[in-house]
Amino acid sequence: MERPISERLFSEAQAHIPGGVSSPVRAFKAVGGTPPFLVRGEGAYVWDADGNRYVDYVLSWGPLILGHAHPEVVRRVKEVAEQGLTFGAPHPLEAELAKAVKRAFPQVELVRFVNSGTEATMSALRLARGYTGRKYVVKFRGNYHGHADGLLVEAGSGALTLGVPSSAGVPEEYASLTLVLEYNDPEGLRELLRTRGEEIAAIIFEPVVGNAGVLIPTEEFLKALHQAREYGILLIADEVMTGFRLAFGGATERLGLKPDLITLGKILGGGLPAAAYGGRREIMEEVAPLGPVYQAGTLSGNPLAMAAGLATLEILERNPGYYGYLETLGARLEAGLKEVLSQKGLPHTVNRLGSMITVFFTEGPVATFQEARRTDTELFKRFFHGLLDRGVYWPPSNFEAAFLSVAHKEEDVALTLEALEKAL
Ligand code: PMP
Repeated sequence: MERPISERLFSEAQAHIPGGVSSPVRAFKAVGGTPPFLVRGEGAYVWDADGNRYVDYVLSWGPLILGHAHPEVVRRVKEVAEQGLTFGAPHPLEAELAKAVKRAFPQVELVRFVNSGTEATMSALRLARGYTGRKYVVKFRGNYHGHADGLLVEAGSGALTLGVPSSAGVPEEYASLTLVLEYNDPEGLRELLRTRGEEIAAIIFEPVVGNAGVLIPTEEFLKALHQAREYGILLIADEVMTGFRLAFGGATERLGLKPDLITLGKILGGGLPAAAYGGRREIMEEVAPLGPVYQAGTLSGNPLAMAAGLATLEILERNPGYYGYLETLGARLEAGLKEVLSQKGLPHTVNRLGSMITVFFTEGPVATFQEARRTDTELFKRFFHGLLDRGVYWPPSNFEAAFLSVAHKEEDVALTLEALEKAL
């Protein structure tokens, strides 16, 4: 598959933008080659500047659960845009979207909108520290919560792919306030709670990990997480990726979690920049202007993002069958991938929950970050480029989740499996 226009665009972009990209993993460093410049999307498909079509399993890294350019979402954004793009004043759609969030997450009483998942987690941690008066936070190895200083410690996603688990420019003093534990290690967590439980403001976690590739929490680990609340620690479920994806009520609904705070993003904005954090009234009332924890944003709650998010959530609510559909299609993809890889005699472990899926090229099980790192990244490169050259756009790193949308069909999965069959 030829991509001369993307190649030209990429070298031009590199002259003006670090690495030619606005977010590192888009540069294909982990897999090599030139990223296709995507200029159009419709349903399950994207087209690059050279006119090549791909079945899209990236979906803008998760937001597009309805597929690209869903007509109702686009129409509602256009209608709002014609009235003005932003006011920096309260807008009626904010409370509408907040109500939709509360229908999805009944334990949320108040919700504050921000522009990115990074802002949501950064703000939720500030709030947890303000509310508890404690300074330490806990995160898990290979979990990614955006690029706020204190969270870029042993992080996943692009930070993992690029081999910079902790970024330059993060002072040790900041990093030392973040305690890092192994995901799916209940004993390690209990031990920390016993020894330092009283000093910890919050534990932030990906309820189902997407940013080390997909990792699924064990019952025992979830139980240990909830025990943290006995120490006055706030439990922050980072549902930026899982919210509205694993169920309308995210991992919280699907796994029966009881977090004190949740963070949302991606699907919440329906393809435009919106994210949020929310929880019980008593905690959220600490946020300015009601309380002393400061947090603000020029474009926060802007009407375009609110309209795209609200349209997306309303469509999901009107179609409860979508989650069953995603489950069925996900199972079909999982089974097909396993079948092809087994036939080829290649080591593999497929981790999937609903419409989030990762193929690790190692014998399983893969439940921790350590185990995820055993994947054969050379084999992943072959998998990735083999698919890309046959019109399948898979995430360009093994430490990411691939996603399905409701626009994906059996025939797209079939095309994907055929491509893989030929590629390997
Ligand atoms: N939390 C999680 C779980 C994420 O997956 C991401 C992004 N992939 C973030 C936070 C950060 O969100 P953003 O990229 O919008 O800042």
